[in-house]
Amino acid sequence: MKCPHCGSSRIKKAGKLKRKYQVRQGYRCKDCRRFFVERDGFEGRHYPGEIIALVLHLFVEGLSLSKIREIVWQHHGYRPADSTILDWVRSYSKLLKRFERKRMPKPRVKGRIHLDEVELKVGKKRATM
Ligand SMILES: [Zn+2]
Repeated sequence: MKCPHCGSSRIKKAGKLKRKYQVRQGYRCKDCRRFFVERDGFEGRHYPGEIIALVLHLFVEGLSLSKIREIVWQHHGYRPADSTILDWVRSYSKLLKRFERKRMPKPRVKGRIHLDEVELKVGKKRATM
């Protein structure tokens, strides 16, 4: 492993970095004294859109994470980590929810009316007490 800042191979371990699903080893370069984190090649942005789309499709179909990884590896030569797949699924479901909320404004209105009724009842009770 080499320092990404200056290319030196004189590096030492310098604590661990906790992320959402993974812990990464941090390093400090002995030459330029800068800190960096090991690269594992599993960043989501390195994968083509078609791979992400395929993974999401397989996930929606109900396949297990290990089965999805096996298919993607055997047919496409990519090895996304479980954490990467879960990241894709999470950002995808967020997009879906946002879409649904935009398309269905009615439940919100119902909720408001219901809330107003409750407030009214509480107000009446207080008035009679
Ligand atoms: Zn360096």
